[in-house]
This record gives sequence, C-alpha cells and structure tokens, in this order.
Amino acid sequence: MLKYFSADWIFPVSSSPIKNGVIAVNAAGEIQQVLTAAAAKNLDVVHHKGAIVPGFINTHCHLELSHMLGLIPEKTGLVEFVQSIIKSRQSDTLQIELAMQKADQQMFENGIVAVGDIANQIVSKAIKQNSKIHYYTFVEAMGFNPERAAAIMDYTKGIREAFSPLSAAVVPHAPYSVSPELFRLINTEAQNEGSLISVHNQETVDENAFFEDKTGGFLALYQFLGLDISFFEPTKKTSLQSWLPYIAKQKTLLVHNTVSNRADVEFAKQNNSNLYWCLCPLANLYIENALPDVDLLVEEGVKITLGTDSLASNHQLNILAEMKTLQEHKQVDFEKLLQWATINGAEFLGLDERFGTIEIGKTPGLNLVQLSEGFIIESDQVTRLI
Ligand SMILES: [Zn+2]
Repeated sequence: MLKYFSADWIFPVSSSPIKNGVIAVNAAGEIQQVLTAAAAKNLDVVHHKGAIVPGFINTHCHLELSHMLGLIPEKTGLVEFVQSIIKSRQSDTLQIELAMQKADQQMFENGIVAVGDIANQIVSKAIKQNSKIHYYTFVEAMGFNPERAAAIMDYTKGIREAFSPLSAAVVPHAPYSVSPELFRLINTEAQNEGSLISVHNQETVDENAFFEDKTGGFLALYQFLGLDISFFEPTKKTSLQSWLPYIAKQKTLLVHNTVSNRADVEFAKQNNSNLYWCLCPLANLYIENALPDVDLLVEEGVKITLGTDSLASNHQLNILAEMKTLQEHKQVDFEKLLQWATINGAEFLGLDERFGTIEIGKTPGLNLVQLSEGFIIESDQVTRLI
C-alpha cells in the first residue's frame, strides 16, 4: 500500500524543487516514485501546506552532555566554557539518562534521521541502541602530553569497542588537547579500521594564538587542568596548519571553524582531499558570540555540513534552527542550506545510500517545513511526516 505525500514544494535535493510535486512511499518508508502534480492527478494524494524536504543529518552532537541544558553561561568564550563543562558535567546517572532520552526524542521530532555523536564515556550506548535515529559515535581521545599517547589510545579504544555493534571510531578531541603522537596513533587506527575522523577545529582566536606563539587564553586553561606544558614549542602556524598534516588521507569532519581564514582553507584543501566542514552556528553564538566566515567556505567550494553541538551550548537540538540562523545572519539561500543539512552530512557519515535525498529506493524520512516567498525559513518548527 503506497502513501502519496504532496506539498506546495518538494525539495528532492538531488534535483530541482518540484512545485506541488508528489512522493509515493511504501510502508517501510522507502521512496517509490517522485511525481509532478500532473502525473499524480488520479492518485489519492494528501496535500500539505509548506515544503517537503528529506530527513536532516546532525553531524555534531554530544548526547551525553544533554543534562547540562541551561547550566553554562553564554558568550563567555571557549576557555571559560571548557572549564564550566569540566566543573559541572558530573550529575547522577538517572538524570543523565533521562536527559539523553529526551534529547534523542527531541532530535527525532525535529526531523533528524542520523547523528554523528561525540562520546567520552559509554553512557549513551543504550539510548542509541534503542533509538529510531541512526548514530555514528566518535569516541574522543584527549591528551596533550606526548608521553601518555599510547595509554590514552588504549583507553579510548576500550570505550570504542564497548560501543560495538554500533558504529564508532576513535577521534581526536581538539588540536589543543591532542599531542602529535596521539594524532598519529589515531590516524593509523582510522586507516586500519576504515573509520571516520571528527575534530573540533579553530573554535576561537586563542586556539591559533596558542599554536602560533604559545600565548592567549589556553595557558590559563592548562593551568586550570594542572597540566605542565613546558615541553610544548609553538609551531608558528595556525592551529589547523599545525595538526592537519597528521591526518592527511582520512575522511575528516572539521567542526566549528569559527576563526578559519582563507590561508587555512586553502592549506586544508591541499593537504586532505576528503574534508567536510561542519558548522554549528547556534553553539558558536552561545559560546563565542561569533560565526565562521561562511562566505569564504562557500567561495572555496568546500563541503559543508551542519551540527547542533550539545545542549550545554545550545537551547535545542534542531537542524532547521541552525539553517534559519545561517539564513538570517549570513543570507545563505535555502537550497544550499538544505544540501548542507541533508546529503552532505549523509555522505560524510557514509549513509548517502539511505539518507540525504528524496530518491527512489532511499528511506530518507520526510519533513514538512514552512517557507515564505523566496524560500525564507519562516519558523524552526518541523513536522515529521515519516
Ligand atoms: Zn562539540
């Protein structure tokens, strides 16, 4: 039994929008046909006001920080933010579980079908196993002291293995928390496993300052963490240009990129041809009150994806809200945003045969969104049709 969904506009993403188009879906949610209004004239079609788009892909989240909703002060900058997270992430197990459950449900209702999720522990496994959302877990390795690289790698691999049979990979947390030795071990592991890499990148000017000449706010962060970093010699290069050569071939997601400049983007393109650039605008505004140079990334033709980051740095986990923010602040057109929110994320996660476009044979999920003249996103409310 097929169901026929229609709306004022259908955005298949893989092809141009279809005015009053019709999508035929079977009971398993698999797309059977994509039709024009004329071709569907005699069918039993349910018409919706608005636009139908494929399910959204959230390429950056931290489900295990969901209980921190509203706890961290806004716009303090990354260095303060990281310290606040460390000070207040402990909570009782039940509260953490319930918050993750709620966050997972919220993402489902907001039309998200797949998530690239950061983990430092195993706590999110049960939620992910029982979720209607597909998860790929990035288990973060963290350790700036090169002498501890092998021990940290073993520990992180242990967590990764505990996530089995779910998809999971060992990834670097951030340039300022991973030594070159640890980066190399992670790269070898990713090559052996054929796994993905995700890394927080250039979230603040302090990150570049630390690598360029060992100055800026990160010095206070290492002091807070009780880390002696006297061994560290500044690289005289920006953060990205310092660490990217360690990960030259792997498919890699660069997350945030708030202060990446043209030289960084060009360096990145030359050094790794398999990069994806994840934007989390609402988290950037929450933490740093800044946004990445989106025009530059578009001009450079890099592949962009979207992420929500966690409820520690966002009021909601809603990809449409991220799109709306970029449309309002950076005047990005809707079709471009939609590509970032769907097929690009699906492609990065290796899920583009199932998700990301409304095409025959895929099970992308269907979302109804409200647009005004010129495809301006009217609200961040999503109606999930399937
Ligand atoms: Zn993050």
